[in-house]
Amino acid sequence: MSQERFGPDTALLVVDVQNDFCPGGALAVTGGDAIIPVINAWMPRFATVVASRDWHPANSVHFGSWPPHCVAGTYGAQFRAGLDTGRFLLVLDKGTNNVDDGYSAFEATSEDLKAWLRSRGIEMLYVCGLATDYCVLQTVLDALRLGFGVTVIRDGIAAVEVHPGDGQRAQDAMTAAGALVTGDSPSCCNILLAERSYSWLECKRGKPSRSALCFWPRRSYAGRIYLRGMRCTQT
Ligand SMILES: [Zn+2]
Repeated sequence: MSQERFGPDTALLVVDVQNDFCPGGALAVTGGDAIIPVINAWMPRFATVVASRDWHPANSVHFGSWPPHCVAGTYGAQFRAGLDTGRFLLVLDKGTNNVDDGYSAFEATSEDLKAWLRSRGIEMLYVCGLATDYCVLQTVLDALRLGFGVTVIRDGIAAVEVHPGDGQRAQDAMTAAGALVTGDSPSCCNILLAERSYSWLECKRGKPSRSALCFWPRRSYAGRIYLRGMRCTQT
């Protein structure tokens, strides 16, 4: 992986890399801790790194759906050892009330994430963390709905898989909604995710429509479409 840094309009969002979601935890995700070195390696490329955490009260209707996990202040709620938390500019607490909510980082109660990102001019998010099929999925769908461009770091996520295949289905749902996954090229325009991803690059195919690209930040100039962070391979 190139160590090229992203521009100031691009942030990394690390979802719920907490003890209870890692092997040995109350709601363990297989391979939940294997993503930590991957995430650590991505972090230095971003000026802004934000993390969310489940931060539940001891008694919550949320625990009707799930075994009790990530109770505020407990070991299970702590970030997993080894995660480079020193790079977190903001930590978002979510699921803090007696409600079955807080799957999405945008539901955080400690900060209005959307407003926080907007006030810093951030329009693109790279998303990683746990778990693919719940909190990562809901965070990505919310981000897209709110108009952010989203790239999911494929090796930086892991799924609970309550039902086998949930992880893949979640990934499909994210790409269908407009997210890119690192290493993938949306079929609509055969674009590749560029490792050098700061400058606006021209999409030579012209106007993308009815595709993932509709949701991707893009600008037109002199009748040409430029896509941020991507290289169009078509001429
Ligand atoms: Zn939870």
